[in-house]
Amino acid sequence: MSDATTAKKPAVAKETFETILEVKGLKRYFDVSAPWLNRVLEGAPEQILKAVDGIDFAIKPGETFSLVGESGCGKSTVAKLIVGLHGPSSGSIEFEGRDIANLSRKQMGPIRRRLQMIFQDPYASLNPRWKVRDIIAEPIRAFGLADSPDEVLERVGQLLTQVGLSPVDGEKYPHEFSGGQRQRLSIARALASEPDFLVCDEPTSALDVSVQAQILNLMRDLQKKLGLTYLFISHNLAVVCHVSDRVGVMYLGRLVEVAPSDILFTRPRHPYTRMLLDTIPDLEMSGRERMPVAGEVPSPINPPSGCAFHPRCPFANDRCKSERPEPRPLADGAVVACHGVEEGRVPDDPIMAKVPVPEGLNV
Ligand code: SF4
Repeated sequence: MSDATTAKKPAVAKETFETILEVKGLKRYFDVSAPWLNRVLEGAPEQILKAVDGIDFAIKPGETFSLVGESGCGKSTVAKLIVGLHGPSSGSIEFEGRDIANLSRKQMGPIRRRLQMIFQDPYASLNPRWKVRDIIAEPIRAFGLADSPDEVLERVGQLLTQVGLSPVDGEKYPHEFSGGQRQRLSIARALASEPDFLVCDEPTSALDVSVQAQILNLMRDLQKKLGLTYLFISHNLAVVCHVSDRVGVMYLGRLVEVAPSDILFTRPRHPYTRMLLDTIPDLEMSGRERMPVAGEVPSPINPPSGCAFHPRCPFANDRCKSERPEPRPLADGAVVACHGVEEGRVPDDPIMAKVPVPEGLNV
């Protein structure tokens, strides 16, 4: 437990920014080569995994921006880069106009208070040996957000109430709670430092379907009440459709399409986005033709040349195999990286069926 100062932070007038977070040319490569001696003896080549390979996006205050894509596309690495759990290989991460990509631990301290993360596995992110009240009190003490031990306890009780638990739950240990309740504890802990921005990495995917909607409804209520901004990482497209303002689609470390949620889910342009959307069950039995999910995601260690999606794309041609498409803005606010869309080779027919609302989710 931290024994940091308990001096209350001074009230500072907040500046207003058009974007709260802006990522420019962000890359994160991992060296996954065999040990040096093996490389020398066996002649094995150096291997670089390009988890994030040059992405740009911006998030406005109060917005929910989601990143989607198949497993291994790099979305969770982006989450970790933003909260400083990984350092970038290159590029910038601007939080309210200040580049935080290469700040020291000390310089990152005040930013960390305002930029918190909710993890997929709530149990792994809660210290099992600590009582809940100590887990939630830790950031309050560390960032000097209360003047006295009594004030810390009062704040812990308020946070537990805010996430739908009771102040007396502070006396229990994490293992005494269900999965959904543990994710409520994680949210209370994230809120304890009074953040403005939450990075939510698959926050409901480890939970039973019956409690997923409860957690998402809670997150949405908290966002409205506290003016929070969310970067939401998920592979569940039905959830993303109904909780997001804008969505970015990632494939092999790159953003292939970014669009307002209502446009992305009714008029997807990129063939990969269309393929992902075709995996959502068609409850309305609209009878629309679907693009079958073709092939596996290639290795990010040796991604295909040109457009990395070309081995799976039914619209690929020679240009796609040799030239990497750059993101281009379209008139309705979507940004798409695809030669076929640029050349009009990919059909632009809207999807008429609505994405079903997950049971229990308030929309
Ligand atoms: Fe398909 Fe070519 Fe577009 Fe890539 S650039 S998605 S291969 S049409």
